[in-house]
Amino acid sequence: MEEGGRRGIPSLLNSSSSDEHIATDITQLVGWTPLIELNRIVRKDGVNARIVGKLESYQPLCSVKDRSALRYGQICTHMLSIVQCFNISADHIVKLGYFMIILINGSYSVIPIFRMIEDAEEKGLISPGVTTLVEPTSGNLGIGVAYNALLKGYRFIAVMPAEYSLDKQMLLTYLGAEVILTDPTLGFQGQLDKVEQIKNDMPNVHHLDQFKNAANPEAHFVWTGPEIWKDTAGKVDIFVAGSGTGGTISGVGKYLKMKNPAVKVICVEPAESPPSRHKIQGMGPGFVPKNLDISIVDEIITVTAQDAMANAKRLAREEGLLVGISSGANLAACLKVASRKEYEGKMIVTIFPSGGERYMNSDLFAQAREECSAMTF
Ligand code: PMP
Repeated sequence: MEEGGRRGIPSLLNSSSSDEHIATDITQLVGWTPLIELNRIVRKDGVNARIVGKLESYQPLCSVKDRSALRYGQICTHMLSIVQCFNISADHIVKLGYFMIILINGSYSVIPIFRMIEDAEEKGLISPGVTTLVEPTSGNLGIGVAYNALLKGYRFIAVMPAEYSLDKQMLLTYLGAEVILTDPTLGFQGQLDKVEQIKNDMPNVHHLDQFKNAANPEAHFVWTGPEIWKDTAGKVDIFVAGSGTGGTISGVGKYLKMKNPAVKVICVEPAESPPSRHKIQGMGPGFVPKNLDISIVDEIITVTAQDAMANAKRLAREEGLLVGISSGANLAACLKVASRKEYEGKMIVTIFPSGGERYMNSDLFAQAREECSAMTF
C-alpha cells in the first residue's frame, strides 16, 4: 500500500527501510483509510457501476470524526499529509503563522491551518485546567474530542440525545468525558439549547462548534478528498455522502470538484428528517449548517432508516464490513445511483463513517440482541 497514516506515517519524509515505523502519538495515525470495492453486492444487484467505500472505522478512534477532532495542531502530521497528497518534499513547505505555504511545480499555494483547540488557546479563549469544552455530538466527534481533552487537561462535556446508542455514551464516559443527555423529541435544537444553558450556568465554558468551525470541512479538504483522489487514481466520477455537520461532503466535494469539475456530489438525507425524528445517527440535523456548502451538492437522495439498517446488514453479511447505520444509508443511495443508465461503468465513491460495533445497543442490532438474550446454556 501507499505511504500515509496508519499505512506508513513512519515512512516519514525520506526515511529508509531500516528506520522504525512506529507512531509516537495517535494523531499521526489519523487519515489514509482504505478504499474497498463492493464487488459482491454490485454483482448480486446486477448494477453496472463500480461502488467503492472508504472505511473510516480504520481511524484510531474508529470514525470519520477523528479527522476533525484530532486535528488540533499536529502540524507535523498535517505537513506530512500534504507531502503525501501532493507528492512533494518537506523542503517545499513553510509554516507561517496560521498559514502553510507549499511550493508545487514552481508555484506557491497558501493553505490556512485551522485547529479546533489550539487556535482557541492561542487566541486566549481557553486554557487547560480552567476551561470546560462543550460540544453537541451524535457521539463520534465527541469521542475524538474526549481523547484530546483528556490529553490536554480540559474538562469535556458531550451533549447528546438520549436515544443515541448507549455504546457511544459508554465510550465517551470511558474516555473521561461527562455526558449530558437531551430529550430526543427536541432533536438537535434540544442539544443546542442545553449547550446554551451550560454556558449560562457555568463559568469558562467553550463551545468548539463543529457545525460552524472551519477546521471541520478543512480537514476533509486537506485529507479525505486528496486520499480519495489519489487512491482512485483520479477515476472517481460520483461522490456520495450523508451530511451531519456537512464537514465531510463539503471538504471532499470541494477538493474533488477542484481536481475534476465533472465529479458529481450527491448528498444523502434521512427520509424521516426532523422535525420528525429519525434513526440514522450522525446525519440530517434538520437545518442547513454553516459547514454544509450547498453550492457543491448536485443532488439530494433520501433514504429511510429501515433501508439504511438493511444495507448496513448487507455490508456485514455480504462484504464482511462491520459498519454503522449512516454507512448503510450511503450504500442505499449508491445503489440507487448505480442503477441509472447514465452512470453505467462509472466509479461511485462513498464514505462508511463509523464501525458497526458502536451501534450494538441501537436498532441495528435489535434482532441479534433478541436472539442472544434468548440463548441459554
Ligand atoms: N455518519 C456518522 C456516523 C457521523 O457521526 C457523522 C458525523 N456527525 C456523519 C455521518 C456526518 O458527517 P459530517 O458531520 O462530516 O457531515
